[in-house]
Amino acid sequence: MKVTEPKRNLGASSEVVRDINRRIVLNLIRTRQPISRADLARASGLQRSTISLIVEQLIDEHWVLEGPLGRLPRGRRPTFLGLNDDRVIIGVDIRPTQTTVALADANGKFMSQEVMGTPSDPQLALKRLIQSIQRVKNGCQGKMIEGVGISLPGRFDHSVNRLVFAPNLKWPDFDIRNPIIEQTGLDVELENAANACVLAEVWFDRVHACRNLVVITVSEGIGTGILANGALVQGLNGMAGEFGHVPVDPSGPLCGCGSRGCWEVFASNRAALRYYAESGAGENGMTFPNLLTRADQGDNQAAKALERMAQYLGRGMRMIVAGLAPERIVVVGDLTHSWQRFGGIIEAEIQEQVLAGGHAPLLVPAFEDGMARLRGTVALVLQKHFSV
Ligand SMILES: [Zn+2]
Repeated sequence: MKVTEPKRNLGASSEVVRDINRRIVLNLIRTRQPISRADLARASGLQRSTISLIVEQLIDEHWVLEGPLGRLPRGRRPTFLGLNDDRVIIGVDIRPTQTTVALADANGKFMSQEVMGTPSDPQLALKRLIQSIQRVKNGCQGKMIEGVGISLPGRFDHSVNRLVFAPNLKWPDFDIRNPIIEQTGLDVELENAANACVLAEVWFDRVHACRNLVVITVSEGIGTGILANGALVQGLNGMAGEFGHVPVDPSGPLCGCGSRGCWEVFASNRAALRYYAESGAGENGMTFPNLLTRADQGDNQAAKALERMAQYLGRGMRMIVAGLAPERIVVVGDLTHSWQRFGGIIEAEIQEQVLAGGHAPLLVPAFEDGMARLRGTVALVLQKHFSV
């Protein structure tokens, strides 16, 4: 998208145009680096002189570095530009059982990470988190920290800056943002984990540009992040996407949200562990990865528990498919490591009820290393500078 530069008007609107053009250029460098000024002009449709001005500014601000000279058959050799990886972001992934604090560069490459337990007392959790952020900050001498991005297993209301709904964390509605800003001096952005995964897909998956996408995170609970018409859906109080808490059986087990029979009590990792325990197998302290391993070792009850979880996942996705008509559904979670057990069953359940005129979405496992949320936190901080 190109914004025409007004010739005479030097008022506020030209500042807006400059800002937008700067973001376009920064974004092109991010996604196409290494890239020359000439290619930037071609790709953006902006004039060479405008590109040169913006690039000089970005170099002055240490966003962009001039790399090695390129090679052309003849003529002047162009200088390639790339993002300066001395710009770093601290990414935090808070989950009900563990919290990860990581350091990444502006390209989303992780340099270090620290994992710790998540205390059930929110004040203690916040204190430990701030200490960890301070440690990472102190280890960043010579680098520029852009801010802290935090992924939460709950909903964050951006209008009042509060964590408003975190049933699996069991933290009350409280201010998590300001204490971190006050004590670390860094900018802090927070987002729901599934929404963070949507941002990660949009930012770092350069292969599949997609405007209608749903990310489903399956772990202790089920989270949903929605990209509709190219925009992240927040809803009133940031509460959009709580499909996991739509009751599918009012007489079902009690859910962390207080209701009974929510989708997530039938289709989350916890549900599979419960099915396994109900079959008379299993023991205290068993984890979902243990269950996957047992199924692979030939434990029939474990395999059946996972199959049941997969059926419920697929059935629940029908409401997402019917309601949002996404092009792709990306599944994030430990279950993707045993996708052969899940993919076929989920697809069959969705196919069972595709509406006339509708289309089953492409179901994609995010074969990830547990980093999708963290990559999303990097995108969360960077989007302030790059979003157009
Ligand atoms: Zn619920």
